[in-house]
Amino acid sequence: MPVTGPHVTFLPRSRRTGYPREVRVFLVALALALTTAAVATADRASVDATRGPSARPLPHGSRSLGLPFRGRLRDGVLLRESSYVRYVTEYARAGNHYGTWELVQLLERAAYRVARRLPSAKLSVGEISAERGGPIPGHASHQNGRDVDLGFYMLDARGRPYDAFAFADFGPDGRGRGPNTSLRFDDARNWELVAKLVADGDARVQHLFVARHLKDRLLAEGRRRRAPASVIARAERVMAQPTGHPHANHFHLRIYCSPSNRPACKDQGVRHPWAP
Ligand SMILES: [Zn+2]
Repeated sequence: MPVTGPHVTFLPRSRRTGYPREVRVFLVALALALTTAAVATADRASVDATRGPSARPLPHGSRSLGLPFRGRLRDGVLLRESSYVRYVTEYARAGNHYGTWELVQLLERAAYRVARRLPSAKLSVGEISAERGGPIPGHASHQNGRDVDLGFYMLDARGRPYDAFAFADFGPDGRGRGPNTSLRFDDARNWELVAKLVADGDARVQHLFVARHLKDRLLAEGRRRRAPASVIARAERVMAQPTGHPHANHFHLRIYCSPSNRPACKDQGVRHPWAP
């Protein structure tokens, strides 16, 4: 470690060689100064790692073209892993983590807020879109940088945040299903995530697909935490269980086209009052 380096080597050597007192005082002062500088650098580095979305200004030139299930992405922005964002391991290798800047910024802001309020866990991101959009295996949509799959925040048997290899299913009691019975749905962090997603001023959420029983848990958590009524109302309206795919193991989030992307970018389906 750089902090101990100069300290450890300087002091014993000065004692062994029997320098005059002034030299020893100077060497001790120098060692202290070096140590302080090293500690300050280390602190700055660790603060930088958690400084949040503002630390990395995103390019704003992305273009979402066409529809989510028949579209393209131009100049997509890569969502990077950080101290508060991780790729779900199963989807890390495929590299489909490109989105519009509005979506990437939304995810970074939301993950950062959860990490600030309830530290020690990262947002688990599945797939967004390919760098240039278009069809990707396993998805009908996700073609123009406005869809993302998000793994749930979850806890292990001892209540610690758990980073799963893949998405994990949860039942109405919040317990993991199948091979994941020791896992728990993290009501607090998942609610914080939803609350930030639905209240963002730039990226407006069209869909947040999630199983009905998990939606109920999340709304109960929001009320328990005395979230603003307007946030709960938005969350209630936007969370939905789609037919045919219950979404008990991840959220599917879609944002509307930003006004500057229209008319090349096309929305279809529900228009909430907050649609841009
Ligand atoms: Zn999806």
